[in-house]
Amino acid sequence: MSNSFDLIVIGAGPGGYVAAVRAAQLGMKVACVEKQYLGGTCLNVGCIPTKALLDSTERLRFAQHSFAKHGIKIDKLSVDLAAMLSRKNDVVKALTTGVGFLFKKNKITHINGLGKITAPGKVDVAGTTYDAKNILIATGSAPIQIGSLPFDGKNIISSTEALTFDKVPEKLLVVGGGYIGVELGSIWSRLGSEVTVVEFTDGIMPPSDREMAGVLLKSLQKQGLTFQFKTAAQKAVVEIGKVRVTLESAETKQISEVIVDKVVVAVGRRPVTDGLGLESLGVKMNKRGFVEVDDHYQTSVAGIYAVGDVIGKIMLAHNAEEEGVAVAEMLAGKAGHVNYAACPAVVYTHPELAAVGLTEAQAREKYGEIKIGRFSMLANGRARASDETEGMVKVIGDAKTDRLLGVHILSAHAGEMIAECVVAMEFAATVEDLARSFHAHPTLCEAIKEAALAVEGRAIHA
Ligand code: FAD
Repeated sequence: MSNSFDLIVIGAGPGGYVAAVRAAQLGMKVACVEKQYLGGTCLNVGCIPTKALLDSTERLRFAQHSFAKHGIKIDKLSVDLAAMLSRKNDVVKALTTGVGFLFKKNKITHINGLGKITAPGKVDVAGTTYDAKNILIATGSAPIQIGSLPFDGKNIISSTEALTFDKVPEKLLVVGGGYIGVELGSIWSRLGSEVTVVEFTDGIMPPSDREMAGVLLKSLQKQGLTFQFKTAAQKAVVEIGKVRVTLESAETKQISEVIVDKVVVAVGRRPVTDGLGLESLGVKMNKRGFVEVDDHYQTSVAGIYAVGDVIGKIMLAHNAEEEGVAVAEMLAGKAGHVNYAACPAVVYTHPELAAVGLTEAQAREKYGEIKIGRFSMLANGRARASDETEGMVKVIGDAKTDRLLGVHILSAHAGEMIAECVVAMEFAATVEDLARSFHAHPTLCEAIKEAALAVEGRAIHA
């Protein structure tokens, strides 16, 4: 094997492996260095295993609460947690094996080990030096640990360990009400845990549209999750297999205590740059440790690029993939481009919350005069037929130009429904474009058309 490549990618998560595949498709000789697992966080301990467990537990919830309404009777319903976890592991294995297959198919050299950039164009892995015309850092992110709640891998844990409990914890405390916190909280609550989520701000999913997050919050509360806002977890002490957690109210400074079986700390993710040698190369990082890049994803050192969570623009898998493709295309002399304004975000709770574009507050700040259309899933025929009537669609447009500024969907399958809105945003559609487009009947997506019609007060079924 020759040790010289056109591109060496460090990290085989969605940013890295997709960049490697696209670069190989464009004729480059590519190697990808990976220290732990093909598919990165996303396939191994992120998007995929969480969705596997969310889907399994959602089926359980259906069997418990909806089947009878559909006229389906189950006499004895029980959960085999080991089988559920094993299915999740099988899904992960199939997909990570698939990444290995893509490497073979595209003749990408997979180098196993920790990559370190020793100089521009030089990557060291376990004492062997590899040469590259260009290097791409796609080393991703890891859970943030807070000093007051240090991970012990057993009782005080990150999202990673929360995917592998071998028995359902009686009481679970989730620190952080972002999407990872509410997804994990949903999984274990559906399996029978008493789940409390503590969050420092005044609501769940701080960056999302406040109205929509509020509606989802009510739904999660109805499902049995408890929330404590403006609250900080101050300290945790493990005592005979239980965790005593001290909570402090941010407003009143009042201290309270809870005793739980497990504490999941999901307060965000930090960039992974440990051992890469970036400081000595002079690669600039910002105050939070994210690698700084220019519009072409080039770092402060020529020939070294970075994409995905490690640059911290939008820490989502599909964004890492788009950035990876953009870099590969730019290196091949094409016009790689990522339209961040059209990047969707989905929270896979039930109902799902999906959004693209601006929130109401952002739209007001940026455009001043805006117009909003809302449509309840209760009035959607397919939602009724499926007994999935929770939620609503909210469409936001510019009052002067009718340009579509944002769409927020709270509904079963919202993660699938948002796709048409992403395309609409990508093509700079107007609200009228959405309102005039055919939507097959009966589908949940008809609610998007109705919300767009509602912007001018002409929804048909409202
Ligand atoms: P990563 O996926 O983190 O991959 C980086 C890779 O680099 C890793 O495999 C790591 O081992 C490797 N690496 C690091 N340093 C080195 C080194 N020096 N040498 C060699 N290899 C190295 N996003 C979504 O879009 N949808 C979701 O539903 C979703 N759910 C999530 C659920 C959870 C619980 C978590 C934790 C995350 C979730 N995410 C989701 C976020 C998503 O996983 C990340 O945005 C995505 O994985 C980032 O991709 P990446 O390629 O930048 O980095």
